[in-house]
This record gives sequence, C-alpha cells and structure tokens, in this order.
Amino acid sequence: MESQAGDGVKYIPVSSDIPHLLQSCKIRQPIPDNPTAAWKRFTKRTASRNQLKTALHARQQGLCAYCEITLENTEDQNIGSHVDHILPKENHQALTFDYDNLVLSCFATGGEIKADEKDPAPVSCGHAQLKRTNNFDESLFIKPTDSDCERYFSFELDGEAIAHPNLDSSDIDKAKHTLKVLNLNCLRLKRLREDTITQLYQIVTELQDDSDALKRFLMLELQETKSFINARKQHVG
Ligand SMILES: [Zn+2]
Repeated sequence: MESQAGDGVKYIPVSSDIPHLLQSCKIRQPIPDNPTAAWKRFTKRTASRNQLKTALHARQQGLCAYCEITLENTEDQNIGSHVDHILPKENHQALTFDYDNLVLSCFATGGEIKADEKDPAPVSCGHAQLKRTNNFDESLFIKPTDSDCERYFSFELDGEAIAHPNLDSSDIDKAKHTLKVLNLNCLRLKRLREDTITQLYQIVTELQDDSDALKRFLMLELQETKSFINARKQHVG
C-alpha cells in the first residue's frame, strides 16, 4: 500500500494537439526579445487565453499540475487558475509559447490568499514565492511533464508530501527542492490532503463488509479528475 509513488507533481502527458492560436503565435515569434511583453499581449486576447486554458484544463483533467487540487473548487474556496511557464520564459525565451512548457496552475493572478499568523505562506504552485521569482535550480526541479515525476513523492497520513522512501540521495534532493519551490507543504494543502486521506479511510472502514458498495465507492473516488488523485491511489488504490 505505501510503496507506490504518490503525487506532489502530477504527470501531464504532452499532447501534439496544440491550440492553434498559441501555435500561430509561436510561429510568428519563435524567440521573442521581450518574453514578458509578448506573453502579456497573447494572454490579453480573450480568445487566445480561453483557447489555451480550455486545452490545458482538458489535458490535466481539471487538476492543478503541481498540487492536484481541482481547479474549480466550489466548496470552501475558489482560488482560480493561471497559465504557468514550467521553466521561466525570462531565461528560456524560446519556450515562451511552447505548449510543452505550459501548465494550468492554481491561483488566479491577483487572487492569491493573504498570509496571516496561522498560515504565513499559503500560496503554492506557480505563484509560490520561489517559483514566481524564478529563484530555483532547474537541474533539481521535477517538471510535471517528466514522465517519471510521480515516482519522486509519497504522502503521509497527516497530509505531508515527502520524498519517496525508495529514492537514492540525488533524487531525494530533487524531490525536496521541488516541494520547497512549489510550497507543496503549506498548511492549507497539508490540511486538505489530510482531510481527503482521513475521509477515504473512514468510508473504506465503514464499507469493509459490503464489497460491492466498497468497489463502487472506490471507483468513484479514484477517478482521474479527483483532487489529490495520486495520494488517493497511494492510500486506497
Ligand atoms: Zn496547485
């Protein structure tokens, strides 16, 4: 049960089905001189932005590429989403409009949760401080588009994401660096993960004498569109 890989960074298979407005922008500007300005111009156009976000949303099955929360959360919070460059466009101009370098991350620009005493750093993923300021080591950063990214992480019952116990020391460094850069162990995420895992075990225990009901429950709860899908699979899959 616990030797399987968990999440932390969700694997996003890259598709060759590239949104055409993005593709035509890339053809026009393969290496923009000012990637920030070029990107702003692209996302300012509603049609370009919406087409890209819709495609990424489908590619990621509605989950944040980094923390795996559902991006439309209608329950206790709705923090929105933004398109994130996995590797910073400022250092990799040629990746500004590269579909393989783009993911949908939680937190709408300007919609970040404010820090307070109880949670001094509640913002994670693409807008986490170290990621947002490009203050990380790219050689240690595990990308959601790396086909083996999920093997690096494992989940504790208290919701903490950790480096998978089977990793060697250089891979442990990568996992730890990635968790820190994306702030994937902020209080908010730990709590949400803990609640998810606790509830799953609770219901699995309640249904243990009814194998049909248990099977139906797990089929629903282990769908790829469910938040923290890899933590779910690790614990009750
Ligand atoms: Zn996230």
